[in-house]
Parts: sequence; structure tokens; C-alpha cells
Amino acid sequence: MTEKEMKNNLNYLGLTRLCDEYPSFLETAVKKKIPISDFFEQIISTEVENKQNRSVSRKIKMAHFPARKTLETFDWTFPKEINEDLVRFLFHLDFVEKKGNVVFLGPTGVGKTHLMIALGIHACKKGYTVLFDTAADIINRLSAAQAAGRITSALKAYRRPDILCVDEIGYLPIDQMEANLFFQIISERYEKGSLILTSNIGFKGWVKVFNNDVALTSAILDRVLHHCNVITIDGPSYRLNGANK
Ligand code: ADP
Ligand code: MG
Repeated sequence: MTEKEMKNNLNYLGLTRLCDEYPSFLETAVKKKIPISDFFEQIISTEVENKQNRSVSRKIKMAHFPARKTLETFDWTFPKEINEDLVRFLFHLDFVEKKGNVVFLGPTGVGKTHLMIALGIHACKKGYTVLFDTAADIINRLSAAQAAGRITSALKAYRRPDILCVDEIGYLPIDQMEANLFFQIISERYEKGSLILTSNIGFKGWVKVFNNDVALTSAILDRVLHHCNVITIDGPSYRLNGANK
């Protein structure tokens, strides 16, 4: 078989990395007299690794994160108050297996969205599906879908991922219909999938966010807090800080 035919075959099988690298693999194997079993193992692992990387990239892309953030770039000395042990524990992702939730609470600029994205990206790397959206965008999308008579499929998109990240609950007031739609997401995901939420408003203030509907707000909080880790962050805004790099 010519090199071109070999490459065509590898491409046909979807073994893209091997297709690019097999001539140099072969050369090294011959030069170093690598046993055939080791050689075989090596080329298979390379292709498996390549496939896994592509799958992670696809998951991260589909999650629609607004930025890339990692736990490594989080400066633990900056917030005045944060439970570092608990945040690090969340990165074991036990809560995802248990269909539990995480809520980051704190004033603006303390790193709530940063940690939510870092956790979401980490989950993608571990094979979970994630979707990131702001509360305002979710509500706009659901309201538009409701008006267009396609609310069922719109809700499905928010039901499907292993983790739904909802950023900025409480930044904008929402009316009764919007609050009802938001409740549907919370209710459909309850004990079926995880939520990661961020808010600049403590739970006691949520009733104001949800149109002063006490019953609906308790129903939302009951479901969110049933299996939940709450991370309260306090301190100045990192955005306004001179140390912001
Ligand atoms: P919040 O969501 O709490 O309003 P963000 O997570 O959006 O705040 O943080 C604002 C900016 O500051 C982001 O660019 C984020 O990466 C950065 N940031 C916040 N806190 C920290 C921190 N402790 N260490 C490193 N970067 C931080
Ligand atoms: Mg934020």
C-alpha cells in the first residue's frame, strides 16, 4: 500500500491524528526497534487521546461559556471571604453525579462567574455536558419561544445538559410570566440534572427578583436548595482592583 493509500484509509476510518503522524511514528518505531505490541499500543492511545480531546472541545463549544476561566488562575488571597476547601471539593464533581446544585452568592466582581465557568469547563473535561446562559437571556429566550408556540422545545434545551449554569440571577427584575417560565426549568431539572447558579442577592431577597410571588419563590428555593452547596464570596470587586491583570 502506498503512503497516500494508507493515509486515505486512515482518514476514511476517522483516525485523523494517525493519518498526520503515522509516517514519523513508523520511522521512530523502525529506528528504535520498538516491539510491535508497544507500537500498536502507542498508536491506539494517540488516537484515543485525540478523540477525547475533540470531544472535550466540542462540549466546551456547545456550553457557550462567555470566557475561559480556570481554578488555577483564581487568586484565593483576593476575596475577603470564601470557603476554598468547599470550592476545591466541588471540583470532584460529586454533586453532578448526585444531580445536586451549586450556588455562588456575593456582590459584583468577586469571582462568581469565574468559578462557575471554571467548574463548568472542568465538568466538560470529565465528559459531562454543560450549558451556560444568563438568567436574563434564558428568560428572553423562553418568553420568545412561548410567544412563538415552541416553548416545549425551548425548555428541552435547558433540560438536556448534565449541568445548567445560570448566571446573574437578580440583576434584572422579572415579571410573573417570566418567573413562571423560569420555575419550569428549575422544576424540570429537580433531581434530574445539576444547576450552578450565581446571584448578587441573598436567598431572602429572591422573592423580590421573582415578582414578589412568595409561593413561587419558595417553590424555586425548595428545589434549588434541597441538594445544594452554597458558596458565599465576599470582598471588593476584582474588576476595580489595581491588581487586575
Ligand atoms: P462576578 O461574577 O462575581 O461579578 P467575575 O467572576 O465576572 O465576577 O469576575 C470579574 C473579573 O475578575 C473576571 O475577569 C474574573 O476572571 C476576575 N476575577 C474575579 N475574582 C478573581 C480572583 N479572585 N482571582 C482572579 N481573577 C478574578
Ligand atoms: Mg458575574
